[in-house]
Amino acid sequence: MFTKILIANRGEIACRVIKTAHQMGIRTVAVYSDADRNALHAAMADEAVHIGGSAARDSYLDIDKVIAAAKQTGAQAIHPGYGFLSENAAFCRRCAAENIVFIGPPTPAIEAMGSKSAAKQIMEKAGVPLVPGYHGDDQNPEIIRKAANDMGYPVLLKATAGGGGKGMRQVWRAEEFDSALDAAKREAMNGFGDDTMLVEKYLTQPRHIEIQVFCDTHGNAVYLFERDCSIQRRHQKVIEEAPAPGMSETLRAEMGEAAVRAAQAINYVGAGTVEFLLDADGSFYFMEMNTRLQVEHPVTEMITGLDLVEWQLRVAAGDVLPLKQNELSINGHAIEVRIYAEDPSNEFLPQTGTIRFLETPADSDHIRIDTGVAEGDEVSVFYDPMIAKLIVWDNDRQHALRRLGGALKEYRLNGVTTNIDFLYTLCQHPDFAKADFDTGFIGKHEEQLL
Ligand code: ADP
Repeated sequence: MFTKILIANRGEIACRVIKTAHQMGIRTVAVYSDADRNALHAAMADEAVHIGGSAARDSYLDIDKVIAAAKQTGAQAIHPGYGFLSENAAFCRRCAAENIVFIGPPTPAIEAMGSKSAAKQIMEKAGVPLVPGYHGDDQNPEIIRKAANDMGYPVLLKATAGGGGKGMRQVWRAEEFDSALDAAKREAMNGFGDDTMLVEKYLTQPRHIEIQVFCDTHGNAVYLFERDCSIQRRHQKVIEEAPAPGMSETLRAEMGEAAVRAAQAINYVGAGTVEFLLDADGSFYFMEMNTRLQVEHPVTEMITGLDLVEWQLRVAAGDVLPLKQNELSINGHAIEVRIYAEDPSNEFLPQTGTIRFLETPADSDHIRIDTGVAEGDEVSVFYDPMIAKLIVWDNDRQHALRRLGGALKEYRLNGVTTNIDFLYTLCQHPDFAKADFDTGFIGKHEEQLL
């Protein structure tokens, strides 16, 4: 096992990784920017290296600076967290060249899943079901339009380089197709510097179900069941839970096995997530694979009793996966909500300010809070406005939901506007309690929720 690792991230995920590393007796190095001089993650680590300016490109996205910090401190491996450099193939390659272990998949696996269309081409060959659509390299608008017309409207245009719910556009009628394609390409070029598009059937009431997979360097692969991430706003996740309500054992096994096939098709190593859309008729379709630890991994940890960061570190150090598929099981139900510094009454605009008062429910077997902020901290404009994740666990969904309501009521944060009240209203909604939802839930009930 490594004796020292560097965490190339900030906020809650950096703190979360440091915690497991310390439990395993591994020394930790944090990196921090100007804005994060007094940040929790830097204080928690055994060592902290200042790597530059507040803007992410001057610090957390600067490959040279992160590598220099690792060399200077003698870190043997780098955990990239999520976001920032976590799915950056150039960074992964650079780590290898510098003899530093990248705690994640091999570079070719990142590259293979980096483009949504290339990923679909690979999955098609591996026999993983795809949403009907066109994901070819030929970007002639005639071809894309014909594909849309052939499959019938509505369709969804997606930037193949897109992510985080951005770069997508629904098209409801053939007449709107050309202008939608132009606009989508412009957005994609501005947002991702690449206007390659794919088009697929727009499913009107799907659920977002994703499978956590894990592979080691010895050819073993398992799935750690599913998460239901259907509660989204503008295609961004707000609530995630595990297991997915109403999931049958048969469907779970089918989706799990498809996810493992997907991972094996790209010789995957480490923690990965295969995202599917589940249609009302029970068919499921591959959307994309995220080649990193997900924000919502704690719900999987709560129902399996495992520490996924520990698994990541062990796999990266060359260990065999700690458990086999038949040794894994689901215990109870977990729900996570993402607490954001944002204003639901003003289009959910990100908010900044100083956290003047913070009092949160106590951690227990039932409640877990993953956060990167403390009382007195500044929430700045520079980074993602997510400030904490609240995760609850209980024997069944109904009891977990009750815990969630109670915990949200006990979560007090003053000084910065947050979505806590919105989350409370959301989780109290009778249709949410009945698990009667799809990815359109928030949109459909927005008036009641605000
Ligand atoms: P991103 O990489 O930006 O997160 P995804 O491809 O993972 O994009 O899709 C994000 C969300 O968009 C999904 O969870 C789902 O709600 C919605 N979505 C994506 N593809 C479709 C589709 N074909 N039909 C309906 N909704 C879709």
